Amino acid sequence: MREKILGAIKGKINRRSWENWFSTFDVKEVTSDQVTFEVGNLFIKEWLEKKYGPTISKALKEVFEKDIPFSIVYSSATETSVKNIQANEPLVKKRPLIITPLNPGFSFENFVVGPSNMFAYSTCVEVAKKPGKFNPVFLCGGVGLGKTHLVQSIGHYIFRYHPDLRVVYLTSERFLNELVDSIKLGKGYEFREKYRTKVDVLLLDDVQFLIGKKGIQSELFHTFNELYNVGKQIVICSDRNPKDLEKFQDRLISRFQMGIVAEIGKPDKEICKKIALKMIEHEKASLDMEIVELIAEHFSDNIRRLRGAVVKLIAYQQMSGEKVTPSDAYHILGISSLPPKIGAKERIFLALSSVFGVSQEEILSSARRREVVSARHIGIYVAKTYLKMSLRAVAELFDRSHPTVSHTVRKIDELIASGNVVVRSQIEKVVDQLRANALGQNS
Ligand code: ADP
Ligand code: MG
Repeated sequence: MREKILGAIKGKINRRSWENWFSTFDVKEVTSDQVTFEVGNLFIKEWLEKKYGPTISKALKEVFEKDIPFSIVYSSATETSVKNIQANEPLVKKRPLIITPLNPGFSFENFVVGPSNMFAYSTCVEVAKKPGKFNPVFLCGGVGLGKTHLVQSIGHYIFRYHPDLRVVYLTSERFLNELVDSIKLGKGYEFREKYRTKVDVLLLDDVQFLIGKKGIQSELFHTFNELYNVGKQIVICSDRNPKDLEKFQDRLISRFQMGIVAEIGKPDKEICKKIALKMIEHEKASLDMEIVELIAEHFSDNIRRLRGAVVKLIAYQQMSGEKVTPSDAYHILGISSLPPKIGAKERIFLALSSVFGVSQEEILSSARRREVVSARHIGIYVAKTYLKMSLRAVAELFDRSHPTVSHTVRKIDELIASGNVVVRSQIEKVVDQLRANALGQNS
């Protein structure tokens, strides 16, 4: 009976699909009113039910000469035993072709969209939904702006919604290493076979790695052509536009430009804020909006660094058990200079005035009143250590000699080191004030 049932099903399915999907499929039990099949992979079970359910029903009807229900159960015991085919191809070959594991967090859902990445994002979503529609797609943009995230999102999506397609995600470095290894082992042919004929969607990251490497560029050229000619989807990422890939074969560059070139630009502050907030939410933590602003301000050139900053502050907050203040954040993140456009010189006196209640004239005079002296000293210290002004600039700004400035900075350092909370809090207030002014100015 088993052979008869399997034979009937096999007769209705093309050989390739049979080899792909039915390699672990077997009859488990036949009763008078039900047939149970087993299969060695949960994913395949669902796929068979969805895609081949009607075919299996039809085959059963032929064998039993009546409608007979069936079920497919997952049994891990069958996972490794190849029963029905004399397969020379790997078992569940749709899956293992994801060469480098995908980062589970790199999904479309987790990607924050804004003007700088909208086009790249939409292109990738289209590609994921209809592989082959835009071909090739060349995704470019600066380091840490989300290329790998987007290209892996395509991988996740296809993995989930097009289970019949074989996706390969790999870096160009890996592509190169594999070629080299296979040639060493005399298996260059297998390498070619693998990438030119067994792939439906090729996601190749960091192609700039191949700059100046002629041999691998030729290999990629041929791989590209073979895949392209049969309508397989190709997505390539690079930290620069195809036209800026120096020492790259022209024929390859022109291939890269044949489809869509989608560039990810520098994100604006709004997306950076959203991304930071999303990361904070994801970590189930909280940071003050002021700090989020500060992070967005300073790390908009690289989302990877922005992420690092968020994680660092959260970790700090969790370890210390105290809320991070903006001036803590400056320290922790090692951002010692405020954004250049604030016009630090003018604003430092404003900040000092609002914290100490003394005027610029008094600070610059030789008055020895306590608040004036404090304002002067803290001002010098903040200018030197936070604003990173040179000794000369600070001396000029405060109308003091170099040795006086050096001496003041040393003295304040000593006070901080000895645990003087008054001084520390005065510094924090001034820095917060400066920063608040800077943010006010930018928005
Ligand atoms: P690239 O490959 O361009 O150098 P990545 O894709 O590795 O950059 O992105 C760096 C980090 O920033 C990753 O953690 C990624 O999840 C995150 N990231 C980048 N852009 C976004 C975005 N628009 N939304 C959410 N996270 C992002
Ligand atoms: Mg990357």
